[in-house]
Amino acid sequence: MKKMGVHPTFKKDELTIVNNAVALAEELVGNHYKMSANQWLQPKYDVTTLTDLTDYEIVDGPFAQIIRYEGKLKGGVLGSSAYDFYKICIQDHAILDTLKAHPKIALSPFALYVVTHELVHIVRFSRFLQNFNASDMEKLLEERRVHGITHHILDPVKAHGLDTVLEFYSRWRPPFDELITIP
Ligand SMILES: [Zn+2]
Repeated sequence: MKKMGVHPTFKKDELTIVNNAVALAEELVGNHYKMSANQWLQPKYDVTTLTDLTDYEIVDGPFAQIIRYEGKLKGGVLGSSAYDFYKICIQDHAILDTLKAHPKIALSPFALYVVTHELVHIVRFSRFLQNFNASDMEKLLEERRVHGITHHILDPVKAHGLDTVLEFYSRWRPPFDELITIP
């Protein structure tokens, strides 16, 4: 049985808000790292909400988790070459719980923070600035760094309610997102 059956998922209007947040996060992170639209296709990634997640992609605690799928491309001079596919698994239930507990926080700027944060992780993985299989201590330091970069990227952005979200994140560190590799 799918675990998502017991978790609340985003409604249609909330999904629209999240999709808009994803688009803005891609633009902001792309600008920050000076990446063209074409470079954005490398690394390959996708953003998925709870309805489209399978059981093992659902966690309790983090607002999102990144799963790296390792695959092999057929062809190439030396036979097959490896590629990575990153899936940002948005945990609707964790986000909705937090919004309920903190009524001053709005979904739009909150989703913008969560997705920007995950995209920064992915850019850093793909540039080997972060090792996916790092030690717990390294992961903790990287998590702090990524929060810092996310704050830096979002600070100048004029979006309604974003200052409340940035304040929320600087005062209280939510559960860390998990990083999992599926071979
Ligand atoms: Zn993180």
